[in-house]
Amino acid sequence: MTSAEELLEFVQACPSMFHTAAEIRRRLEEAGFAFLSESDPWDVRPGGCYYTVRNNSSVVAFKVGAHCSGPGNLRFMLEASHSDAPTFKIKAVPGIDGPENYGRLSVEAYGGAIDYTWFDRPLAVAGRVMVRNGSRVESRLVATSEPVALIPSLALHLQRGVNEGFAPSRAIDLCPLFSQGSAGGQEEQGSVSRAFLELVAREAGVDADRILGHDLYLVNLQAPCVWGPAREFVSAPKLDDLMCAFTSLKAFVASENARSVTVFCCFDNEEVGSGTKQGAKSTLLADTLQRLSASLGASAEDYRRALAKSMLVSCDNAQAVHPAHPEKYDAGNRCLLNGGIVVKEAANQHYCTDAFSHAVFAAILDDAGVPRQEFANRSDMQGGSTLGNLSNIQASVHAVDVGCPQLAMHSSYETAGALDVDFAIRALSAFYETDLRIEGADAAELA
Ligand SMILES: [Zn+2]
Repeated sequence: MTSAEELLEFVQACPSMFHTAAEIRRRLEEAGFAFLSESDPWDVRPGGCYYTVRNNSSVVAFKVGAHCSGPGNLRFMLEASHSDAPTFKIKAVPGIDGPENYGRLSVEAYGGAIDYTWFDRPLAVAGRVMVRNGSRVESRLVATSEPVALIPSLALHLQRGVNEGFAPSRAIDLCPLFSQGSAGGQEEQGSVSRAFLELVAREAGVDADRILGHDLYLVNLQAPCVWGPAREFVSAPKLDDLMCAFTSLKAFVASENARSVTVFCCFDNEEVGSGTKQGAKSTLLADTLQRLSASLGASAEDYRRALAKSMLVSCDNAQAVHPAHPEKYDAGNRCLLNGGIVVKEAANQHYCTDAFSHAVFAAILDDAGVPRQEFANRSDMQGGSTLGNLSNIQASVHAVDVGCPQLAMHSSYETAGALDVDFAIRALSAFYETDLRIEGADAAELA
């Protein structure tokens, strides 16, 4: 199986952020990592492999090098990606009864989706439900394998100008069709919500009246594929950012670094600003680093010294030049599919790269023989932001923003380069395996 095919398998196992975290956990367990609950005491040893989870949607895993305990020897080699993607969330009262005998779903945008890419395609529902079980409430993962909804377009004949401009209303047009009741009949109020929750309950293997809460999202069921005359393209839902989650996880699990603590992070809620208890702005990363340091016998002083000698690679996909709109990109700082990993810079620091982190990462790539591309926004365009500058709020370290080039970012079906999957794995492995000695912002020694 090629790396691109492996990526697609990963994407299919990750229909929601909760499934992404569960799939990452499964792979970590398989590789022998020990789970550390945030509510238990931690016992971390040199040479050990561990992970923790917050909200069942963010994961931080770490490997302690055999020779990195003791005051002054601690440092972190970090990579971060995100587990979520733009979609639509099902509201607490999920059903819309009518008009006529139609049943529809009531949804709200999660993140900045390209709305039209959600029309006329089979949609599943995935996420978690909270279930009452006697005196407990318990979480259950849910993902329908069959289509359960579809957002139908309005016929061309009823909107003749549609090809000149299409601006659907999220409240009116983006209500997925779910069911049809008896012919001609007005259905009883609340029947669509009941039918939907019964369907979800069947998937979860519980009675509908035991579901007390849910975080459920629409999923594009269109199958991922590798395609092109040379199989040079890979297309799938949520390549932003599952491509980076997959490649950094693969690099992390396989890499060896006896002199550092290597850290893998996959955060939820990047697409809605990261400001949740489990997002990149939360204390999750700093809490994890502080607790593992303390467990290794490091003082608060040692921990701060460790941060000063650490580096983060923030991994989130980059905008590749679109074939129909090359004018939308900076003339020199632009990237292409299959051209190698992209280093992103922005003067406003929405990307966390600076000369120091740029140079260190470039040197690592050069030594590993991985091609590198540079990206900056066209100067009159506002780009996105990502994880690095946010996670730096709680645990401030040298940081570089990188990603794989891709087309159609925030479409429900995105496209990237098949070769870039391997480039990313090699680049991110090389970073994890570097014995990096940082001397403030003056210099760094790579070994
Ligand atoms: Zn992203």
